[in-house]
Amino acid sequence: MLNLHEANIEKLTFRTALVSKALSEIVVQKYGGSSVADIDRIKRIASRIVETKNSGKKVVAVVSALGDSTDELMSLANQLTPSPPTREVDMLLASGEQRSIALLSIAIHALGEIAISFTGAQVGIVTDTSHTKAKIVEVRAERIKKELDKNKIVIVAGFQGVTLDEDITTLGRGGSDTTAVAIAAELKASCQIYSDVEGVFTADPRIIPGARKLDEVSFEEMLEMAATGAKVLQLRSVEYGRNHGVPMEVRSSFSKESGTCILEESQMKEKAIISGVTHDNDEAKITLLGVPDRPGIAAKVFGSLAKGNINVDMIIQNVSEQGITDISFTVPKDDLAKGKELVEIAVKKLEAKGSTYDDNIAKVSLVGAGMKSHPGVAAKMFEVFAEEGINIEMISTSSIKISCVIKEEDTVKAVSALHNAFNLERGSA
Ligand code: ASP
Ligand code: MG
Repeated sequence: MLNLHEANIEKLTFRTALVSKALSEIVVQKYGGSSVADIDRIKRIASRIVETKNSGKKVVAVVSALGDSTDELMSLANQLTPSPPTREVDMLLASGEQRSIALLSIAIHALGEIAISFTGAQVGIVTDTSHTKAKIVEVRAERIKKELDKNKIVIVAGFQGVTLDEDITTLGRGGSDTTAVAIAAELKASCQIYSDVEGVFTADPRIIPGARKLDEVSFEEMLEMAATGAKVLQLRSVEYGRNHGVPMEVRSSFSKESGTCILEESQMKEKAIISGVTHDNDEAKITLLGVPDRPGIAAKVFGSLAKGNINVDMIIQNVSEQGITDISFTVPKDDLAKGKELVEIAVKKLEAKGSTYDDNIAKVSLVGAGMKSHPGVAAKMFEVFAEEGINIEMISTSSIKISCVIKEEDTVKAVSALHNAFNLERGSA
């Protein structure tokens, strides 16, 4: 006879088993541009999806535009004008994903399975109105659920959504990741992100050949990595995954190897002091010279940049001398032209001395959850730079990240020296 306590535990275990079975039923797989770059690759992905379905899962596949076609579409628009209206840019870019979903669906039909493709608007990916950088506000997944229940493979265009006024929007470059995670959250499914890399590495393997694939990484670390230049995942997809507790895995569409799992820190087997070194060559530095040092000035400068929808990253204000000071900050290179405009207006209004710009910079960062409890990481990082003769222009930290801005030409030297100094290479974990 079971006593009441044991019986309750039994019931609970049973319920947990049921829930996890239900959870594992649906899988959302996202395939990036390089995974669908040509017809052969589309065929390969189609077989992979069919295999997953045959293993007893319901599959939702989220796809990006073929190869570099988003860049190609963008350059067509830029041949007409350097700053095309963003609503029309979204209309144009969304066509890239519309081609790939249809082709993938056709490829699956050719294998004798039934698939159905949808644009973001058709499956209720509702976003706000900030064109080219829209945020998902709601996923109305009824249509997806209905088609899955009919035993179909559902294919959804990544990177795009629709506003309540029915304007097509896009979610920012790399936004298909976020589409996949948002759908997975809504369906209580797990999310696999397939790309041309095997997972998240201790550094970019294209510049550091000894870089090692991480088996797991925490959401917090992944957020810092994505924010500091790791290109594997769009930052917003990691935020979305963390906020909704979506189990995520980054893996390669070219191999069957398992990839990198992104987990809650408490679920990780091992906690390294440093998980990786990242770099970002896509930022530029703006400096405001001779700004009056009094309350409200920073609010004005950064308020106008925020209104212009410009993402400011690092900010440094110098010690003031005789009531004036310099303020430096970084922005994405893509936003430099607009940032310049706004800063030049601010210089006039505030009667500052002027401004300078530098797009020849790189941000190199160390990320690791273990930093919280291990002092001395920053000191060691600065020592490594000193030994290599690398000048540090800006520094910023969080509890699990240290970033330095350096000259762009020092990027590889800096990443490689840090990777060595912190023993991140293969075989030394
Ligand atoms: N096709 C879009 C881009 O290249 C979205 C994506 O790939 O996730 O940014
Ligand atoms: Mg792409």
